[in-house]
Amino acid sequence: MWKGIIGNMKIHFNQLDRGYYKYKNEYDRAAIAALESGWYTLGKKCEKFEEEFASYIGSRYCVGLNSGLDALILAMRALNIGAGDEVIVPANTYIASVLGITENGATPVFVEPDKYYNLDADKIEEKITPRTKAILVVHLYGQAANIQKIKDIADHHKLYLVEDCAQSHGARFKGIMTGKWGDIGCFSYYPTKNIGAFGDGGSIVTDDQELFEKIKMMRNYGSKVKYHNEMLGVNSRLDEIQASLLSVRLKHYNEMREQREKLARKYLEHIKNSQVILPAIRAGAEHVWHLFVVKIEKGNRGAFQEYLSEHGISTQLHYPIPPHLSEAYRYLGHKKGAFPKTEHYAETLVSLPLYTGMTDQEIEYVIEVINRFTGKTIED
Ligand SMILES: *Cc1c(COP(=O)(O)O)cnc(C)c1O
Repeated sequence: MWKGIIGNMKIHFNQLDRGYYKYKNEYDRAAIAALESGWYTLGKKCEKFEEEFASYIGSRYCVGLNSGLDALILAMRALNIGAGDEVIVPANTYIASVLGITENGATPVFVEPDKYYNLDADKIEEKITPRTKAILVVHLYGQAANIQKIKDIADHHKLYLVEDCAQSHGARFKGIMTGKWGDIGCFSYYPTKNIGAFGDGGSIVTDDQELFEKIKMMRNYGSKVKYHNEMLGVNSRLDEIQASLLSVRLKHYNEMREQREKLARKYLEHIKNSQVILPAIRAGAEHVWHLFVVKIEKGNRGAFQEYLSEHGISTQLHYPIPPHLSEAYRYLGHKKGAFPKTEHYAETLVSLPLYTGMTDQEIEYVIEVINRFTGKTIED
């Protein structure tokens, strides 16, 4: 192991400036070129990024939007999902996945996770009713869900399949990119995401020309031609500065991805502590390590976080309150205990620092501190 580095290093959960400085000259040039162009929304830079991103995913079309949440809302709306419809969604997810459904007046039907923390394909069919319109799958923490099986279920029951890829840019299942499996793939470029803008951003990808044209209209007040509003639209545009910065990000994504992989491998190979349960990877699935999530059993998570914090290491929870127990969704009437696996994960999972530009010394320090965690028992 590494020698005596335990002390008081400061390890932030994320350090977004490291990602900027890594390619500073290119970001600076891209932003200035956008400023100097005199054209700031829905121009050539957005179009260029849309083409690049569609080609990266292997999809025919991409539409740049204002956020990942807008991508989810507009995807559901474009599929005519609304009041009276039900959408299957994982109970273990970020609330934005669920908001994409309820913003359209549809009802989310929660399904428990598997041991990879993703939607459990074996528990979907029992939740399908005559009102079910779609399955919204989330590739959580960066790992592709059991998407082949989920797609087969969607096809068999003639349901739409929508993918929330906000955490899974570039993760493949059996060689096919997440975002390419469903009718629509939804992406976020929020700054902390694997491909992040320097502000808000999102997109949808699809192979369906009609859906593409519909969502393209929707993002710009429902019009193709100015002042000719064919449908009720919104304002959800990916601006030219963000789009040109995203082109730089995408160009270097393979390097950034490899670095995340290297860091994750270090955690996987060197964390040796029986109290810390490491993430498992499904056969056939790729993990792009948006988050490195470990499980701390026996009510020890608080002590673990406190101990790391005392050693200068920040951690985060993804997510402490599952959507079905949030105040916002109280009206759905789910009580504590309704989704025990999800609730158990909400009480035991914790995310470790992992970001572009994290140094070997930093991650080795985190590992050494973790390996010395002795925990406390329930009796304490
Ligand atoms: C971040 C995220 C979103 C929302 O993306 P925004 O760009 O922040 O609106 C949706 N779903 C998941 C799983 C996310 O992690």
